[in-house]
Amino acid sequence: KQPVLELENVSVAYDSQAGMVQAVNDVSLKIYENTIVGLIGESGSGKSTLGNAIMRLLKNSAVLTNGTIKVNGKDVYQMDKKELQKFRWSQMSMVFQSAMNALNPVLTIEAQILDVLLSHHKKMSKKEARAKAVELMEIVSIDPSHLKSYPHELSGGMRQRVVIAIAIALDPKLVIMDEPTTALDVVVQRSILDKIKEIQKVKKFAILFISHDFSLVSELASKVAIMYAGRFVEVTDSQSLKQAEGHHPYTQGLIHAIPHLTADEVSIEGIPGNPPDLVDLPSGCAYHPRCPFANERCRIERPAISKVNNREIECHLYDVERKEVVKS
Ligand code: SF4
Ligand code: MG
Repeated sequence: KQPVLELENVSVAYDSQAGMVQAVNDVSLKIYENTIVGLIGESGSGKSTLGNAIMRLLKNSAVLTNGTIKVNGKDVYQMDKKELQKFRWSQMSMVFQSAMNALNPVLTIEAQILDVLLSHHKKMSKKEARAKAVELMEIVSIDPSHLKSYPHELSGGMRQRVVIAIAIALDPKLVIMDEPTTALDVVVQRSILDKIKEIQKVKKFAILFISHDFSLVSELASKVAIMYAGRFVEVTDSQSLKQAEGHHPYTQGLIHAIPHLTADEVSIEGIPGNPPDLVDLPSGCAYHPRCPFANERCRIERPAISKVNNREIECHLYDVERKEVVKS
């Protein structure tokens, strides 16, 4: 079956005052329809850059330096401008970080939804578009009377749901959500996540859900890619994240960093150290300055991807072939 999203050896770099930044470094991933895949990483790990790259909405000097990005089998970077314009929002859409502040303050919610519908459906009448706008508001649980409202008249949570309504307005096969609830309080966050799950079940599109919130993503997604310094250090099913064993040391650190409720104590164990500077990456495995298992080899040689129990892990500890060589 054809994946909805296929990333093959994707790299993205941009120029900064401090030098070339390798924001995304050789990542591959497939996402199929009707699935939610999580992309987890600390800020600055390259998550948003990858999301923007998929949409071909890279900012400033950022460019795709290697690899291919296919959505529904079509290479996003081989389309001409017109094709891309049609493709974006109808086949793939994105809910940006703090998107609720991206609504146009001088237009009503209805005007903004109609704009998306009518610009892509040349044959749709205004009346049909209005009916569709009502339907979309109902899907995201907002009273359609708010179509006449301006963004500032709605709460942050409602505005974010409007943005989600716009993202799904054209029934795209892929929706990228970049920290869609981070700016909201916990209760609103919960209700929006439930809504996202509910809509996804009905519409069956694929979601790439980007977040730094490990517990949230492992709950929402069925498969998770863990990003560190521009690379996927592990790709695994989220079920397996309930146990700390058999993962990349960084994943293990993330699992341990979640508050654990044991018999009568709460323990929180963070990962010591900071994410690396992408301009000046550590040699070998970029995680080695923070890794409790790091050895000399880790400082020199970048690990390859090993397949372990359906997980893809980029770490020397899982490099079975090499271990055998060492044993003999
Ligand atoms: Fe740690 Fe070495 Fe594995 Fe990197 S390769 S995660 S430094 S053990
Ligand atoms: Mg980000």
